[in-house]
Amino acid sequence: MLKRRVDYEPEAKVPETRLELIHNLIHHCDRCPLHRERIHAVPGTGPESAEIFMLGEGPGKNEDEEGKPFVGRAGKLLDELLASVEMTKQDIYITNIIKCRAPGNRDPLPEEQEACSRFLRMQLTTLEPLLVVTMGQFALSHFLPGEPIGKARGRLRNVGGQLVYPVIHPAAALRRGDFHEWAKEDFLRLPAILEQARSEPPAEENPKVRTPRKPPNDEDRQPTLI
Ligand code: SF4
Repeated sequence: MLKRRVDYEPEAKVPETRLELIHNLIHHCDRCPLHRERIHAVPGTGPESAEIFMLGEGPGKNEDEEGKPFVGRAGKLLDELLASVEMTKQDIYITNIIKCRAPGNRDPLPEEQEACSRFLRMQLTTLEPLLVVTMGQFALSHFLPGEPIGKARGRLRNVGGQLVYPVIHPAAALRRGDFHEWAKEDFLRLPAILEQARSEPPAEENPKVRTPRKPPNDEDRQPTLI
């Protein structure tokens, strides 16, 4: 069946907030070749006031079709993991490293991640979340390059001033029973990690961070409709 690419969201209202402007930029983006295959770009969902910012890898087939992150099987598992600590997706801002689906759900290429990192930077500087929960290796590597998820998971980190909590990706948890158990542990720890982030955050580390939480440049600070 021929795919219907959607650059314009018919139901979308005129952007009123900075976050809505960023989403609008993403819907129109053609900065990397992934825009050619997408049905929808998937900017992210959740309240602008969210304390928690969840970061996955990229949209899958269901997400591409619906234009929302984590709506397939992995999204259902994410719902269950959040419910285990009495949270819902409505409490959290959720997005991905890349905003358009990679063909066959392959790993995002470095140049695609680089092209899309501008939007992640804009989202972080706009929302200023208390805590970024990185789901899986790709999201972790954005903040802590070279650290394996198996070692980094389950611990609160302070990366260049941004508090980061790495967890197992729900899609990985669907593939392997041991990862599923780890994901459950990681999410059960989330309320205590959030409390620690509010009251006793760890000291700042000084790793090589690809996208540090720095003041945005003028281009990032003032998104405009295109
Ligand atoms: S993946 Fe990111 S950079 Fe590439 S077209 Fe989509 S929004 Fe633009």
